[in-house]
Amino acid sequence: MTYIIGKACVDVMDGACVDVCPVDCIYSKPGDTQLFINPEECIDCAACEPVCPESAIFEEDDVPEDQHNFIKLNYEYDFDDSEPGHNI
Ligand code: SF4
Ligand code: SF4
Repeated sequence: MTYIIGKACVDVMDGACVDVCPVDCIYSKPGDTQLFINPEECIDCAACEPVCPESAIFEEDDVPEDQHNFIKLNYEYDFDDSEPGHNI
């Protein structure tokens, strides 16, 4: 299980989630239009979910049907070529 960042983050990217993540598993690189959670590093602590001003973060099982493509986007993001944090 992991948390997933959905469509409401797109073009917002304020980084509030980054500030509270205890394991620095929220990634980005310059040019991205949203941030991504690394499913292999996320410890499911839920700290990020309530601080997101856009309610863009969901537990994987709770991602709305019309945003299921974001599950794939988070899992397949190139974490090796990005850095933890708000690198926009
Ligand atoms: S659930 Fe916790 S560990 Fe996972 S991305 Fe959010 S703050 Fe980080
Ligand atoms: S807090 Fe929400 S809108 Fe802000 S960067 Fe994180 S997921 Fe995106």
